[in-house]
Amino acid sequence: MSNSIQAIRGMNDQLPGELACWQQLEQTAAEVFRLFGYREIRLPVVEKTELFARSIGQSTDIVEKEMYTFQDRNGDQLSLRPEGTAGVVRAMLQHGLLHNAIQRVWYAGAMFRHERPQKGRYRQFHQIGVEAYGMSEADLDVEIISMTSQLWKQLGLSGVALEINTLGTAESRKTYRSALVEYYQANRESLDEDSLRRLDKNPLRILDSKNDAVIELNKKAPDILEYLDNDSKEHFQRVQVLLDKLAISFTRNPKLVRGLDYYGRTVFEWTTDKLGAQSAICGGGRYDALVEKLGGKPVPAAGFAIGMERLIELLKIEQLCQPEKRQDIYIVQTSDTALELGLSMAMEFRDAGFSVTGNIGDTSFKSQLKKANKSNARLALIIGDNELQTNSITVKLLDDGTQLTVSRDNLLAETSKYLANME
Ligand code: AMP
Repeated sequence: MSNSIQAIRGMNDQLPGELACWQQLEQTAAEVFRLFGYREIRLPVVEKTELFARSIGQSTDIVEKEMYTFQDRNGDQLSLRPEGTAGVVRAMLQHGLLHNAIQRVWYAGAMFRHERPQKGRYRQFHQIGVEAYGMSEADLDVEIISMTSQLWKQLGLSGVALEINTLGTAESRKTYRSALVEYYQANRESLDEDSLRRLDKNPLRILDSKNDAVIELNKKAPDILEYLDNDSKEHFQRVQVLLDKLAISFTRNPKLVRGLDYYGRTVFEWTTDKLGAQSAICGGGRYDALVEKLGGKPVPAAGFAIGMERLIELLKIEQLCQPEKRQDIYIVQTSDTALELGLSMAMEFRDAGFSVTGNIGDTSFKSQLKKANKSNARLALIIGDNELQTNSITVKLLDDGTQLTVSRDNLLAETSKYLANME
């Protein structure tokens, strides 16, 4: 074992038996998104590094120190995608999908960030998210928030909390930024190293510092609400009114700034107190300036991304994961003639929608039954010499060992009845 190759730190295998909850989440989300009129989009995992630098922002943690960046054989500078939004905007522009058009799309897939791995924080992780283009009104912000809340409902999840904030427009943020810098400069002695580094490049990020002294300092920091232009103020107000109308409870968190530069106006996050330090399960907001920044005409946009590992962990804690579907039938066949019958029987059952494994190799009856038990199937259908002679099949209920003989003609009907009763 010592010289066998291991997976890369922070990148997890997802083994059979661990995926039922993932599939449940993927299917539920796809269905909820369909109900809201969103269509799936699938994009490459690798993009030009410049795409992320220009969109997420040069001075963000992601671009500064977390991207998997490399030169390919042509000398092009490429990166594994650390998030989904930049790629979606790139694709929208490349294929001309934003000309006088409204777009609503969703995606799911692996993202890569070279962070310090810990519970709930991985280097390869998965997001499922939506993006919508061509709508500047607050209704859209509320539409995407209500999609998340509908998804929690479908999954049976309660007890997650919605926090919202506004980051205003680029202009109002600039004035706010100056006020913040002034405040922090006057209180430099309370800033830790990380915050001092951010002071020049990205002072808004100091607001979500986890350092105790900085948290204390932030309590009296200027609030962006006082620096908002009128349109942004009204927009934020409207978001709150509509959320109230939909009975989606929220709190305003003035310290919520999110780690990506492209956000403006509404930002939001769903958090839980069940997952320890990595409490955010979903983050998103409006990014009206991004399309233009990536070379298009200005197109308003908003979206969110759910961290799938964290949401699955929460579903497990809340016991909301449905168990993996059991296999229906294992066919035990003890001769070549039996095997031939078994093969066609298996197809017949699959046509009827039952999951079937036929024994492969190993003709001993005893060891085949052992395999049948191990397979966790509900029923074994046994075809031995006796059964071949009498044109019947022995049906064994593997949970309690009951055996019965069923004529070949009635087999599908009888077996279906047993399986239906076992649901
Ligand atoms: P972000 O793209 O940073 O806005 O993140 C959106 C969501 O993705 C977060 O709320 C987390 O649930 C999840 N997430 C972000 N980074 C990681 C990571 N390194 N490992 C696991 N989940 C992550």
